[in-house]
Amino acid sequence: MAEALEIVGICASPGVAIGTVHLAADVTAETFAPFYTVAAEREKLRQAVGVAVTDLSALADRLDEESAGILDFQVEMLLDPALVEMAEERIVGGDGAALAWAGALDRYIAGIEEAPDEQLRARAVDVVDIRNRVLRALTGRPVEDFAPGSVFVGKDLEPSHFLAHDWSAGGGIVLFDGSASSHVAMLARSRGIPMVVATGRFEIGDGLRVLVDASDALVVIDPEDARIRKAKSRMASASPSAPAQPGGTVETADGVAIRLSAIINDRQELKATDPSSFAGIGLMRTEFLIASPADAFDEEKHYEVCRQALDWAGSAPVIVRMLDLGGDKTLPGLGAKKSESFMGVRGIRLLLALPELARVQARALLRAAAHGNLSVLLPMVTVPDELDSMRTIFEEELAVLVRRGVEARMPEIGMMVEVPAAALMLDRFSRSAFFSFGTNDLAQYLMAAARGDQSVAGLYEVAAPAVCRLIGQSVALAEAMKRPLGICGEMASEPRHVPALMAAGLRHFSVAPSRIADIRSAIGGSCSDGRAAAEKR
Ligand code: PEP
Ligand code: MG
Repeated sequence: MAEALEIVGICASPGVAIGTVHLAADVTAETFAPFYTVAAEREKLRQAVGVAVTDLSALADRLDEESAGILDFQVEMLLDPALVEMAEERIVGGDGAALAWAGALDRYIAGIEEAPDEQLRARAVDVVDIRNRVLRALTGRPVEDFAPGSVFVGKDLEPSHFLAHDWSAGGGIVLFDGSASSHVAMLARSRGIPMVVATGRFEIGDGLRVLVDASDALVVIDPEDARIRKAKSRMASASPSAPAQPGGTVETADGVAIRLSAIINDRQELKATDPSSFAGIGLMRTEFLIASPADAFDEEKHYEVCRQALDWAGSAPVIVRMLDLGGDKTLPGLGAKKSESFMGVRGIRLLLALPELARVQARALLRAAAHGNLSVLLPMVTVPDELDSMRTIFEEELAVLVRRGVEARMPEIGMMVEVPAAALMLDRFSRSAFFSFGTNDLAQYLMAAARGDQSVAGLYEVAAPAVCRLIGQSVALAEAMKRPLGICGEMASEPRHVPALMAAGLRHFSVAPSRIADIRSAIGGSCSDGRAAAEKR
């Protein structure tokens, strides 16, 4: 009998999975090309408007005359070519259909709201309604999913694809390229999905049985039953993590209190996490909560998920990060301005380049802030001007909401410290209410080694001496400014890095929920200056 073929890679998320292969087609430049053409975006918009008209007309047919009249007015507006033409002008300028529609309609709504005629002003709410209805019809490109329980094999896997898949039946991931530091690897670890990366390309067909023995960084094609039994029994005998304990703080061996908050990546994680083990949420990554450009422009979606997080946390603080799109977290269909470079238009740069998008999320955050202890975290801030520009957007949108009579409150606005230029100059960011260290990015920019690039993985080291020194210097700057600060990079979820973070002066850790028990015990076993408890005098 032929020996099963074993392939060695790098473990990105431990565990064992057995399943049939789903072989993904490579995502090439040609596959992406049709995403943005003026003709395609225009057609998408026209179709979405058509869907909205059909739905509204069908709804009007079922209503009494007075209610139907309101919807008929909305249908008339949609059939008037002026609105679509305004959006099409933006499509020609490089915006995707959703962005163009949202931008054109927001401008139009602002105009109506300022009209001297009261009757006209009262129509603004109808325009908001049609804006949202067309956005919902623009659902974006559905992700091609694969069968639950199967093993995804491919060149790479996008975080949005990972999040759209149902992992409840298990399954695993094998990537020819990829890296253990990518966002998708981080998501796989937090969901406990075995993942092996950097195997190099190998021949394999759809539907074959495969064993992913990720803890040993092995992929076995067509494994024998004995091999599967061995991997499974090793899994069963692996010591389980200690159960999480209640309480959002833990003391170091020398009695210093350390606050522990949760990192939340999606709704499922929120549901599965026990709030009693955390002092609230230290990082909610909103870019993982949206699946399409239409979602990104859906104020209600943003608002609802913030309310869910606030309900989860009770009176504890919830830090919601604004959309950190770009790099390996792209949203196909936003238009020509989307960026796939870690060094390019990413995070707050993208938000300021697409102010219509920032304004939608700002309104949702301002509204949610009226209902709990919510703060806003800005991603990828490099210079103080970016912070000031975003604060201005919040102030302007608060004024809009107040004018509309909508309940809202200005939240505290803080920033990620993940770009070396910002970390070095933290004292210049006096308008930031708090700071949160993003060591995943800080390390890649400081070491000039992209987090997803396996060929320089040896240099990408989150606890490299240069990273630790920079964190220590920035912590001192933040303390002199008397600003609260914490860390939400993965470094804080790694027990072996706890001493270095203690020594750097960090006292607030945001942690992946699956790692909380290990982090608690690492902190308990360390002194506040980073020495091991045994060395305590
Ligand atoms: C970081 O960079 O450390 C961080 C928390 O942000 P993200 O991993 O989402 O880029
Ligand atoms: Mg980051």
